[in-house]
Amino acid sequence: MTRYRESVCRVCRVERTKLFLKGSKCLSEKCPVERKPYPPGEHGRARRRILGYGIQLREKQKLKRYYGMSEKQFRLFFERADRKKGITGDTLLSMLERRLDNALFISGFCLSRAHARQLIGHGHFQVNGHKATIPSLQVKTGDVIELRTKSAKNEDLKAVVESQKNKTVPGWLEVDWDKMMIKVLTLPKRDDITFPVEEHLVVELYSK
Ligand code: SF4
Repeated sequence: MTRYRESVCRVCRVERTKLFLKGSKCLSEKCPVERKPYPPGEHGRARRRILGYGIQLREKQKLKRYYGMSEKQFRLFFERADRKKGITGDTLLSMLERRLDNALFISGFCLSRAHARQLIGHGHFQVNGHKATIPSLQVKTGDVIELRTKSAKNEDLKAVVESQKNKTVPGWLEVDWDKMMIKVLTLPKRDDITFPVEEHLVVELYSK
């Protein structure tokens, strides 16, 4: 899958939003969005009015980039959400939030979603006792995500988890730090997602 290879901080500045793509730097004073809260480039500080389609497009790009997805993969998620009963925007957000890479990141087992994808790809985690190597896997109520026995002895991984222990974990997940285990208590609801996004704009964009 093709991925954006340039500075991820530049992406945050384009979206004027902290997308938390860079691990510990995102929480430090070095975060470029904090230091330069305007888009990059020569005309970054110039006032630009974005209207209609442009607003919808930016909202979609912001959400897609936050979860580190390609356009094709994001569109597939939208189409699946659109086929389900209920409010499409809420369903889409819930599906995105339930991605395995996201669950690991927001639980504090990884430094970023990209880091989570790398660790999943290397086979460090298991879901319900089975090795999980697909970052987009959707976790569901009752699922148990664990570091695999061999990986739990990995000093680098232990150090990452140790450094993230104070992270506030959303209510739909429960973390057992001693067992290096995450339990999915329930499906995430709209209120569990604190990322500032107007998902109805994404729905409007794709519904044209
Ligand atoms: Fe860079 Fe993280 Fe700040 Fe985004 S939130 S600009 S990735 S440091």
